[in-house]
Amino acid sequence: MHFDENLIRSVVAQVLAEVGPMPAASNGKPAGGQHGIFYDAASAVTAARRAFEQLRERSLADRKQIIDIIRRISIEQCEELGLMEMEETKVGRPEHKIEKLRTLGELSPGVEFLETKCFSGDHGLAIIERAPFGVIGAITPVTHSLPTITGNAVSMIAGGNTVVVNPHPSGKRVAAEGVRRFNEAIAAEMGIDNIICVIAEPTLESANELFAHRDVALICVTGGPAVGRAALNSGKRAIVAGPGNPPVVVDETADFDNAARCIIQGASYDNNLLCIAEKEVFVVDSVFDKMMDAMRRAGAVQLNSEQIARLTSKAIVKVGDDKHDAACKDFIGRDASVLAEAAGVSVPSGTELVFGETDEHHPFVSVEQMMPFLPFVRARDVDHAIAMAKKYEHGFRHTAMIHSRNVHNMTKMGREMDTTLYVKNGPSMASLGLGGEGYLSFSIAGPTGEGVTTPATFTRERRCSMIDELRVV
Ligand code: NAD
Repeated sequence: MHFDENLIRSVVAQVLAEVGPMPAASNGKPAGGQHGIFYDAASAVTAARRAFEQLRERSLADRKQIIDIIRRISIEQCEELGLMEMEETKVGRPEHKIEKLRTLGELSPGVEFLETKCFSGDHGLAIIERAPFGVIGAITPVTHSLPTITGNAVSMIAGGNTVVVNPHPSGKRVAAEGVRRFNEAIAAEMGIDNIICVIAEPTLESANELFAHRDVALICVTGGPAVGRAALNSGKRAIVAGPGNPPVVVDETADFDNAARCIIQGASYDNNLLCIAEKEVFVVDSVFDKMMDAMRRAGAVQLNSEQIARLTSKAIVKVGDDKHDAACKDFIGRDASVLAEAAGVSVPSGTELVFGETDEHHPFVSVEQMMPFLPFVRARDVDHAIAMAKKYEHGFRHTAMIHSRNVHNMTKMGREMDTTLYVKNGPSMASLGLGGEGYLSFSIAGPTGEGVTTPATFTRERRCSMIDELRVV
């Protein structure tokens, strides 16, 4: 499904006209402070702390009702909010912006994930329960601004917490509007405002204020390497959902047509913005040509080496003192047709992915490019493919995929990669319950080890002991 850009613009213009500008205070600065919108970290944390004090007096059933309000808005208003996110961030695909909000509303795990453990013996009972931390400070990425807030909010509130979000500056408007809608409905139906707070003009300074605030009990960051490092240096407990560069291995036993369909589905979703998305493919040499044929049959468009070179000269730039390769912002999350045009090729409308052969040293292999161009690299054999997959995953231990019918190869790669997510014979998103088993979250905490975050991730363990009594058996 492709959306007409003019249609998007007119829907968003209409929505923004209805929303109107932020309310202005007498000093000319926006006032904020209602329904979760704040202009400084301290006020936001104070309000979120007050909301937490109110929430802790409420029942689990009330928490569930609050979450259900977020789910309802996320599902019913997914189109309007998804298109607003597309218009503001200008990365990804409108249909997927919409779908991400809907699926997070439907599938984010709720209070049922809070399990109590019990030990019963001659010395009575010990009950281990999951308690909230309090106010959580969250940082969200531009790749999924409101979706990350939605998933985080459901999990964090299910755990009994409230949250202050410092969103990516390029997704701040949709973040504020989504949060405003959630809070307005929660305040009206449940009588608590500011359960989710957002800093409407986020900066690195406001992020650091949030990290340092004494009433922020826990930090959860979703983003690239810099924010992960900043969170870990904050001196607070941090849950870090960091970057990836997910490799795919295809061995000689794979079902090539299925592999091609899965690779296209995963790598083109939201124009490759997902941290779990297929970023480079290593194919055993003896079946390399068959795999390329299968990719073309499945609808991807192959670029030749000159076209890849032309695309690379525009889409990969040198940054930093050491002049390392990085993805050019103008091409991140753009349509395959835009990449093709940069390569000097015109592709049929609806083309979701362009791909081509490169060697392993190509920047599209090593850089987390977040674009719907996928490099395919020849490997001597499966061991060579796994070794390259390991090398170019850069030790993030995030996500890896294999297409194979050989259980031994699957096992070998799984052990070697040591990633949080490992998918066999499916697209990357199947690992998040989208076409596979399991549940959904957009914060996958690899570096700090919590994995795909759930409400339990945002809780403290507490033990309550009864000595020598109440074991009634
Ligand atoms: P980014 O790192 O540029 O920004 C992420 C957030 O961190 C933004 O809100 C940004 O303002 C903030 N930030 C950046 N540097 C900071 C610092 N020094 N101190 C405080 N805050 C800082 O990333 P992005 O482009 O928005 O998102 C894409 C990245 O996020 C990719 O690397 C992707 O893999 C990763 N990601 C990971 C997950 C996951 O679950 N592991 C999910 C989504 C995205």
